[in-house]
Amino acid sequence: MFQKILIANRGEIALRVLRACKELGIQTVVVHSTADADAMHVRLADESVCIGPPPSRDSYLNIHQIVAACEITGADAVHPGYGFLSENAKFADILAAHNITFIGPTGDHIRIMGDKIEAKRTAKRLGIPVVPGSDGAVTEDKEAKRIAAAIGYPVIIKASAGGGGRGMKVARSEADLEVALQTARSEAGAAFGDDAVYIEKYLQKPRHIEVQVFGDGAGRGVHFGERDCSLQRRHQKVWEEAPSPALNAEERAHIGGVCARAIADLGYSGAGTIEFLYEDGQFYFIEMNTRLQVEHPVTEAITGIDLVHEQIRVASGGGLSVRQEDIRFHGHAIECRINAEDPRTFTPSPGTITHFHTPGGLGIRVDSGVYSGYKIPPYYDSLIGKLIVHGRNRVECMMRLRRALDEFVVDGIKTTLPLFRDLVGNADIANGDYDIHWLEKYLAEGD
Ligand code: ADP
Repeated sequence: MFQKILIANRGEIALRVLRACKELGIQTVVVHSTADADAMHVRLADESVCIGPPPSRDSYLNIHQIVAACEITGADAVHPGYGFLSENAKFADILAAHNITFIGPTGDHIRIMGDKIEAKRTAKRLGIPVVPGSDGAVTEDKEAKRIAAAIGYPVIIKASAGGGGRGMKVARSEADLEVALQTARSEAGAAFGDDAVYIEKYLQKPRHIEVQVFGDGAGRGVHFGERDCSLQRRHQKVWEEAPSPALNAEERAHIGGVCARAIADLGYSGAGTIEFLYEDGQFYFIEMNTRLQVEHPVTEAITGIDLVHEQIRVASGGGLSVRQEDIRFHGHAIECRINAEDPRTFTPSPGTITHFHTPGGLGIRVDSGVYSGYKIPPYYDSLIGKLIVHGRNRVECMMRLRRALDEFVVDGIKTTLPLFRDLVGNADIANGDYDIHWLEKYLAEGD
């Protein structure tokens, strides 16, 4: 087991990882920018190292500073959290070259899945169903027209290097296609420094369903069931639940089995999420994330298994603590992402939190790094906390969620809490009857 883990992240996820380390009796080091000197993860860690000024590229993305912090403190492993360097293959390689364990998959696996075209090819080879579309990058408009006509409009143009919902354009007819290709290419080039794009059939009313998987790096793969993350705004998840209200037990076991076998065949190590769109009973792979996800707590709630403990165990060579047959699902869980944003316009609302009071009671979990008097710096993403609610079934979970949202107080800044208070009373949400476009339509109608 590791003696000391360095946590290369901030906010709620830094705290989440820190808690797991403490439970396992592992010493913790956190790194932080000058803007985060007062952050909760810095206060609670055994050691902290300031690695630079506020902009992420000078601090949380600065590989040299982070490796230096490991060497100074004698950390033997790094947990990257999500975002920042968590899916940076070069970072994983550099750590390995310094004999520091990256708590995550190998650089090669990150590289394959980070390139969406390569990821889709790999998924197909492993027997995972994919969205119909081009076999690889499309460079010629003529070729694009031929492919789009063959799969049928509407189609979506996606950046191979894409992420965070950027670099995607829908073309509803051949007339739209050229412009969509051009905009997708230039957006991808500007955002990711790689303008390769590919074409997929645009599904009209799918749900976003993702499977939590784990590999032990020695050829064993398991799945921890699925999460439904269909409630999205601008391709960003807002509300996540497990299990999906749309799947039956047979579909769940089928897609879980497909994913677990693929992970085993790949020789994958650590946590991963295989993302699908699901429409009319069919699953279509869209991408794989090679890290812990923001929404992992809903899976922890229904399985009772700490996924960060598992990540640390696997990375240290101790293997998974569970076999597939040990993973059982209990009840229902929902997560609401509480952002420091206006609940209607979603413009960021940084500033000082004058009062912060979290709900409690059976089945309630709040993962957050903020506190009363905390000043939210304007440099990073606006997630300030996650409310995760568990109940014996979806109805109980929703009743408890409504109550918990009423108790939650965040004063001094705007947050997305009012949006969730609206959603929890909505009939479609109560019935679990929504697809990936539902939330955008709902928000547009409210204006
Ligand atoms: P990113 O890596 O940027 O998050 P994804 O490929 O995971 O991109 O897609 C993000 C979201 O975009 C999906 O959850 C879905 O809402 C939408 N999307 C992606 N591909 C398609 C598709 N073929 N048809 C319809 N919607 C899609």
